[in-house]
Amino acid sequence: MSKTLKMKFKNEIKQWYEMVSNTCGSFLFYEKFGFKFLYKYLRMRYLLTNKLTMPFLEYRVTTKCTLQCRECNHLMPYYSEEAHVKPVSFSDFKQDIDKFLKGVDLIYYFQFVGGETLLVKDLPEMIEYASGKNQLQHIVVITNGTLLPSKKLISAMKKVKRLHVTISNYKGNKDLAEKLKTDELTKILKENNIRYFLHPEDTVWTKSQVLTETYKKDPDIAKENYNRCGLKTCHNICCGKFHLCSMSVFLQRNKPDFEFEQDEIIEIRNGNTLSKNLFRFFDKSYYNFCSHCDFSRTNEFIMPAQQL
Ligand code: SF4
Repeated sequence: MSKTLKMKFKNEIKQWYEMVSNTCGSFLFYEKFGFKFLYKYLRMRYLLTNKLTMPFLEYRVTTKCTLQCRECNHLMPYYSEEAHVKPVSFSDFKQDIDKFLKGVDLIYYFQFVGGETLLVKDLPEMIEYASGKNQLQHIVVITNGTLLPSKKLISAMKKVKRLHVTISNYKGNKDLAEKLKTDELTKILKENNIRYFLHPEDTVWTKSQVLTETYKKDPDIAKENYNRCGLKTCHNICCGKFHLCSMSVFLQRNKPDFEFEQDEIIEIRNGNTLSKNLFRFFDKSYYNFCSHCDFSRTNEFIMPAQQL
């Protein structure tokens, strides 16, 4: 493992270990003795398997959403109709997960993400399938709190003890009062013994400028943006491709002429070199497409989920 990779691995594992401790609770045996032990345990697994543990992975089940948030840090309202990811089918999910798990040792924090996840008809089957994969250590469903789960979804979620639901909290935005079903949702989850984490009511967002109009292709800017970015550890699978972050997903789907550098996106569905490709991917000290993205430069706090 190179020095860059080792540093990245340690930092990312630490970040997601802290997230677990603060949200879903540490209950895996190797989490109970603190970060040092967890890190050593995962390092030892790496030495034995020669495969990476992915600290965090989001599986994008759709880009369709029930809200149109102007400052959405996944840029959902700005997807063109052709670029949108319609709710993913169970068979596509199964194919991606089966392939991806062959290339890694574990995925520490695995999250179903949208758009709005509860719009996806096959989500219960996906959860059931994910729960049978021991390589997925924590399983998380994230929702914006505007929809209630179906009976089928509740039944799938309550069977999985290592699953929790993360609910965005937009109560600070009074304009959304009629759309939010947060209280009803938390009541249902509680009644069904499904663990959840509701973000604090005083959640604020940062104002984003996000994507620059023209691609500057400047390695110094790319490095600077990448180094200070809070989203750089939020890795994604979307439609059979592995991405660094949601901006990479947006660029790839909405700007067909945009040229990614080699190894900056990984094809999952074709080929058998995923493990090697992931090593190459994480060995980079920055990613060129970051020079197109101003996300890391945003610092003005605003009310959450303001609608377009
Ligand atoms: S700066 Fe780079 S890592 Fe951060 S959101 Fe933008 S493209 Fe992704």
